[in-house]
Amino acid sequence: MTTMPSKTMVLPSDQDSSGRDLGAEELELLEQVIRSGTLTSTKGSFTRTLEERFAATLGVKRAYACASGTAAVHVAVAALDPNPGDEIVTTSITDMGALTPILYQGAIPVFAEVDPQTLNVTAASIEACLSERTKAIVVTHLFGSACEMAEIMKLAQSRKIPVIEDCAQAFLARSDGQYVGTFGTIGCFSTQQGKHMTTGEGGIVVSNDDALARRMFLFINKAWGYGDAKPDHYFLSLNYRISELQGAVALAQLEKLESVVERRVAAADKLTNMLAGIPGLKTPRVEPGAVHTYWKYCLNVDDSVIRDGAIGLAKLLKDRGIMSAPRYIQKPAFMCEIFQKRRTFGSSQFPFTLARPEVLDYSKERFPLTFKALHDVLVLPWNERYRDEHLEYIAESIQESVEQLSI
Ligand SMILES: *Cc1c(COP(=O)(O)O)cnc(C)c1O
Repeated sequence: MTTMPSKTMVLPSDQDSSGRDLGAEELELLEQVIRSGTLTSTKGSFTRTLEERFAATLGVKRAYACASGTAAVHVAVAALDPNPGDEIVTTSITDMGALTPILYQGAIPVFAEVDPQTLNVTAASIEACLSERTKAIVVTHLFGSACEMAEIMKLAQSRKIPVIEDCAQAFLARSDGQYVGTFGTIGCFSTQQGKHMTTGEGGIVVSNDDALARRMFLFINKAWGYGDAKPDHYFLSLNYRISELQGAVALAQLEKLESVVERRVAAADKLTNMLAGIPGLKTPRVEPGAVHTYWKYCLNVDDSVIRDGAIGLAKLLKDRGIMSAPRYIQKPAFMCEIFQKRRTFGSSQFPFTLARPEVLDYSKERFPLTFKALHDVLVLPWNERYRDEHLEYIAESIQESVEQLSI
């Protein structure tokens, strides 16, 4: 018999004003944009200023805003200009928006295994996937926790393979003291509603490489050579610009980013202390020199100690108003129809038709760590507005639920 908790607490949420720092600063800049009458970023200055300040924040040469995190990954892949059938090594535990751009550019995602605790790819798991046809590596810093970048960059540089970092969940996260997004060739960010800074929808790409930055800018702008002596549409691309309205909101949000990150980290550190020593639970692992910026707070749940593991614990937490996500995306991306049925362009199955058969082998036995990682993970919502009372409530709810489920 389960005892229902007598009262539940409503936690601040990133889906509305309870958990978002949106206010007077955004409104002030938005009003300036509206009064200026210039809503396109090709003529206004807000988006350009955002790009300059974002680049300065990370200490990189160039940043360009674009329509979404998905667009950001598309821009990055397109800038590297793969040939059809080229392979891009990446992860199957990510947002689908980090994978479909690879297929749109005619390349083949090759899925590396992951660390079962962090769910991130590793240098060793990437190395096992490299081939003559590897054109690039895309790493995703999941949940705000950096991949092991020193090892990954060493591997990539020894093979001269460019690295794209998907930092959509990892604004201002660090590995060995250095910001993610600045290790690889290109860094990608999302400003979707639930990310560390938000414009509802939006994205940003960054790079220190001038030639690639030029291609990134062009891909966002229909490859039109703005400012060139004889501009033309130089190659196949899209309009992935944001408007000045988003540029203004992003600019105000960027001012708050450091504070948002600090508050998220401080709250997470408190919860980690409160949860220390609970049998069957692992709290987030943070390497020396790394800064985890907690897009979410993940636990790994051992179902030989806690009955029904992550799913059992999530059910009890839900009764207490804590809406966690057991198993995160539920299944690896390659289990989705787009990969299983190769639903791409008409009935062509392009670009899967160009792939080596072994990289299309999505059988479960090939990905034991990926399945194990998803089986064990419990993703707790996280927010910079969590106060001590929220953290105590979360910790107490977890403790009591684990006791109830202990085997
Ligand atoms: C959110 C996210 C994306 C996609 O961003 P959108 O802005 O939703 O298109 C890509 N990769 C990761 C890791 C994400 O979390």
